[in-house]
Amino acid sequence: MSVRRRPVVVVGAGPVGLTTALVLAQGGVPVTVLESGPALSTASRASTFHPATLDLLDELGVASALRAAGREVHEIQWRDLAQRVLHRMGYDALAGRTDHPYRVHVEQSRLTPLLLAALEVHPHAEVCFSTTVFDVRPRGDDVVRLWTDGPDGLRTPLDAG
Ligand SMILES: Cc1cc2nc3c(=O)[nH]c(=O)nc-3n(C[C@H](O)[C@H](O)[C@H](O)COP(=O)(O)OP(=O)(O)OC[C@H]3O[C@@H](n4cnc5c(N)ncnc54)[C@H](O)[C@@H]3O)c2cc1C
Repeated sequence: MSVRRRPVVVVGAGPVGLTTALVLAQGGVPVTVLESGPALSTASRASTFHPATLDLLDELGVASALRAAGREVHEIQWRDLAQRVLHRMGYDALAGRTDHPYRVHVEQSRLTPLLLAALEVHPHAEVCFSTTVFDVRPRGDDVVRLWTDGPDGLRTPLDAG
């Protein structure tokens, strides 16, 4: 692991960490992601991606693959317990305000591999699995030392003194 040479460390390879890392990498910022798990999580979690999120993921180049893996939903319905539709709202009301006037239903675990693949294109980005960050020493807006427990044992791979 070569965290020492990298100015940004992201802790956690969930959707937030990988999205953050991809934004940085696409902006030319070297970044290392440290993930305690041995691989991306496959846990069943979030299922819905909203228009604003899809717009953001489109800028990162992963929205179309995510859309292809899921189901577009063009209307929200509110129902009572007898399943009668009480109210409905079409996403076309958002036309002109978003490039994605619909939501996409797809497992969160389908997004993270897309983000990881997009990240791996960048030589200045790195994702280290089985590496837990268990302490940091902050100084102002920076972290000057960061302790990890990973395949190489306990380390302080980021040490700016
Ligand atoms: C059962 C369940 C159902 C959900 N359903 C929905 C839903 O329907 N809609 C919705 O919008 N949201 C839903 N959520 C919430 C959604 O899953 C989270 O908002 C989302 O996962 C947050 O992403 P994240 O990247 O911040 O965190 P996470 O996905 O939790 O990722 C954090 C990562 O950081 C790693 N990590 C943590 N600590 C360390 C450390 N010290 N060192 C190294 N790595 C570390 C973890 O291993 C993990 O991989 C659900 C969550 C759960 C649990």
